[in-house]
Amino acid sequence: MLESFTLAQGTGSPLTLASGFMLVSPWKPIILFAPFVAWAWFVSSVLDKHAQRFFLGREKWALIHMIFGMAALAAVVLVPIGGIAGFAAALLIVLALLAGNIGIFTAITNKDERVPEHQKLTLNFEEMKTAREDKAKAKQLGSSALSIVGANKMGVPPPPKEAPEYAVRVAAEQVLQKGFTVHASQVDILPANESTYAASYLVDGVRQAGDPLPKADAIQIIDFWKSAAGMDINDRRRKLTGEVSVSGEGMSGTPVRMTSSGSASGMRLSMLFNPAEAVRRKPEDLGLLDSQIEMLREWNNERGGVVLIAGQPDGGRTTTMYSVIRLHDAYTQGITSLEFDVQDAIEGVKQIQFDPAADDAPDYATLVRSTLRRDPDVVALAELPDPQTAANVANSDLERSRVYISMKANSALEAVQIYAKAVGDPVLAAEGLRGVIGHRLVRVLCGNCKVAYPPTPEMLKKLGLPGDRVKQLFKKGGQVLVRNKPEVCPVCNGVGYMGQTGVFGVFPIESEEKALIGEGNWSGLRAAMRKRQLPSAQQAALRKAVEGLTSIEEVTRLSSDKPKKK
Ligand SMILES: [Zn+2]
Repeated sequence: MLESFTLAQGTGSPLTLASGFMLVSPWKPIILFAPFVAWAWFVSSVLDKHAQRFFLGREKWALIHMIFGMAALAAVVLVPIGGIAGFAAALLIVLALLAGNIGIFTAITNKDERVPEHQKLTLNFEEMKTAREDKAKAKQLGSSALSIVGANKMGVPPPPKEAPEYAVRVAAEQVLQKGFTVHASQVDILPANESTYAASYLVDGVRQAGDPLPKADAIQIIDFWKSAAGMDINDRRRKLTGEVSVSGEGMSGTPVRMTSSGSASGMRLSMLFNPAEAVRRKPEDLGLLDSQIEMLREWNNERGGVVLIAGQPDGGRTTTMYSVIRLHDAYTQGITSLEFDVQDAIEGVKQIQFDPAADDAPDYATLVRSTLRRDPDVVALAELPDPQTAANVANSDLERSRVYISMKANSALEAVQIYAKAVGDPVLAAEGLRGVIGHRLVRVLCGNCKVAYPPTPEMLKKLGLPGDRVKQLFKKGGQVLVRNKPEVCPVCNGVGYMGQTGVFGVFPIESEEKALIGEGNWSGLRAAMRKRQLPSAQQAALRKAVEGLTSIEEVTRLSSDKPKKK
């Protein structure tokens, strides 16, 4: 009977699925519907969840999937599938539409910056297979999963599994791997007490303690990384630096800067991910307000004067200093920087690395004086290590040279006090000052999981915000709902924050301020700075909270934070 229908095809009466679904040979509909089943499974279990997890417009995408599905279904219904040609055509149209739907979703959502790099969909099955295998390998506790390229671009292969060094390699990888997974910018291995070391992870400026490590293990791990980075493992005292690049487990050629040093209590190793990238930011991306960038550019049109940059250790001081230098035109101006640790090359800038341990080196203050004698247009000092340096700056030709001094201080006001005290002569110190930049960091809320809430009138009053304008603020979330089930946010790993932004106070030092500094009248100086109604770092942070970029918790952390000891 089936035979006769197939033959009947040839006589010219078109047989569509609609008219003869049950009558066509059964394998045709099965083959035609198999792609629908696979497609429907993929759309609901992968694409739909992906869209929901990263807030990519789940409803809109559901509609698009439906349109593609209906179009494919229409092909099955409308194309006469009795003959082999019609069947093949229908099958091709179905496959093209369904695969096209998945391809379009992947292409468009992968370009969406809301989806982090390692969470992007891949339709490359080879890649998926490798990723799966890598994961399985990593699960098998205690095996080497990273490929490491060390000094002189030489690979550092893992030792054979039976060798005693293999366990050290695995432990060393695990410490680094954990840092990468939790989005740490830096991992430190340092002594916790007499017999124990500990790893600590710096995530968006906040330290997270890691597991304790027995002293002997920690030293072996430190020695492994030092050796991989081409550093002298026998030198356990001086500050040494080296670099490796690491691939595997989400990292691909990620540069990691190793810095080791030693003291009476033991050795310390700092591993800094992407050191150059971390300090390479445009002033606009640092978090400076437009009005503040404008003021800095105005200062740059003048010659000379000292500008203090106040920040905290681990507080992005290098990034800020590099950005401020970059506001100058390195092609028309002679710019020199004196740094303890050059973290990135700045085009056109003469960067001098100061090594305090070098035997024949002059001290920092002397180096500063000799640099300033050459009358450069701009000099940037990465530190204010001693009063002599401050005195040498204050006594140089400050009509000629602009000097930036980056220093550890909690506020702009505190930086002025420290500088005046270091110079020793407040009148002389005030004379040369042009301005001061106070700089702090706040964590940025994860845009994928932050939670809006209406602030209470009391809260707004306490913060000094206008109640009629601020209708909502945001707090950290850490979770997303996927099909009504809470899931750890895949973008921030449940932390609720992702990255940091700088908040600044930029204050000019004019004649009124100079007079007050000369008198040592700090409360008067504070009042004079307030009178200008320029935003302080704290107020800049509050503005970012109102914009939904950070939380009130982060803003209040700025005022409650005691200066961090390093
Ligand atoms: Zn999140």
